[in-house]
Amino acid sequence: MTMSALGEPCVLLKLGEIVLKGKNRELFERRLIGNIRDALQPLGIKVDVRRRHGVIAIFLPQGATAEQAGAVAERVADVPGLVWIHRAWRVAKDPDSVLKAGLELAGESEEAKRGARFAVRSRRRDKRFPLRSNELDRLVGGAINDEYGLPVDLKNPELTVFIEVDRDEVFVFTDGIPGQGGLPVGSSGRALVLMSGGIDSPVAAYRMMRRGLHVDFLHFSGIPFTTSESIYKAYALVRKLDRFQGGSRLWVVPFGKAQQSIRTSGQDRLAVIAQRRLMLKTAEEVAHRIRAAALITGDALGQVSSQTLTNITAQDNAVELPILRPLVGWDKTEIMAEARRIGTLEISELPDEDCCSLLAPKRAETRAKIDDLKQIEKRLDAEELCVQLADSIQEYTL
Ligand code: ATP
Ligand code: MG
Repeated sequence: MTMSALGEPCVLLKLGEIVLKGKNRELFERRLIGNIRDALQPLGIKVDVRRRHGVIAIFLPQGATAEQAGAVAERVADVPGLVWIHRAWRVAKDPDSVLKAGLELAGESEEAKRGARFAVRSRRRDKRFPLRSNELDRLVGGAINDEYGLPVDLKNPELTVFIEVDRDEVFVFTDGIPGQGGLPVGSSGRALVLMSGGIDSPVAAYRMMRRGLHVDFLHFSGIPFTTSESIYKAYALVRKLDRFQGGSRLWVVPFGKAQQSIRTSGQDRLAVIAQRRLMLKTAEEVAHRIRAAALITGDALGQVSSQTLTNITAQDNAVELPILRPLVGWDKTEIMAEARRIGTLEISELPDEDCCSLLAPKRAETRAKIDDLKQIEKRLDAEELCVQLADSIQEYTL
């Protein structure tokens, strides 16, 4: 046993939008706790995840190290539905224990060694605690000031000691990492992402996971007329994104032959939109089979010729499922910044032979007419073709 006053290490989680939920709140919290447990399972640390008053606490087993608490905090920082993750200490619920813990935690910090300006911020979720929050602030703050000579700065502190009084215990902490925000994955249902090897679709997938969708991934490869590089990229991207949801599946459609028939079926300028509609129709067929209730794409309005308002309308017309386009109002620079933040950009920027490059006309149509597209589809027998394509998908398990 150490002589530390800090009690047990734990991780304290602050919930995002869930707190705005009324009657459903408990359902959302249960799902979130399930997701947290699933995410932590591979770490092999026996954690106890508990709902507290408005927060979630992860208790580590007796004797757990600060490194283990750090690993837990880092892992849950990827779980959507949380806004802050704090490595905290669980302290007995009396003013003396809190005072000692606050002193020790402040004293150990790097900031204190540099003589940093500090503040204490207390919250009393349990009003039966004998001291009010401002009294607790003054008690602990005064002691830190006496003991280490650190200056108090309530407006702009470099070091903050947080004290949160709960029903069964008090949590004391100084640091926090921001979470992903959003809603727990699965709380909005399931959807299917059309996943190229490009920059946009992985970001679109991430944004929709954050809105509570569990997603599967569908990639169209130009095989047998292109190499497998785009498949490897899609696979690497799905692996990178899986940390936000777990249980991701990637399906690959060998699309080269279908693209060839599109090319030979006439109007060069419509080929890109015709192909996009065939992708969507195939995706819809796959979605029905795996019970996904929506399609997701990385389209951004006006970014390329296939993404004009007219052409987006022509794509929506191809399927009955809703097509979710979370990036529709984003600039390329914003999408790239987000891709960098979530770690997909460097994979997306690897060279590959995208299947779309097989069909790059000199001038693409920006105002595709739906009747013309339907003509092409009649010649192709698109309704039958998309069922065949859905039959030919291959699953890549992670
Ligand atoms: P991305 O960076 O996601 O490839 P992009 O800017 O290159 O997007 P497009 O190539 O026009 O734009 O594709 C628009 C959307 O169509 C993509 O975001 C993706 O959802 C879907 N898509 C395009 N190509 C494929 C593919 N080979 N497999 C699956 N989906 C695709
Ligand atoms: Mg692309």
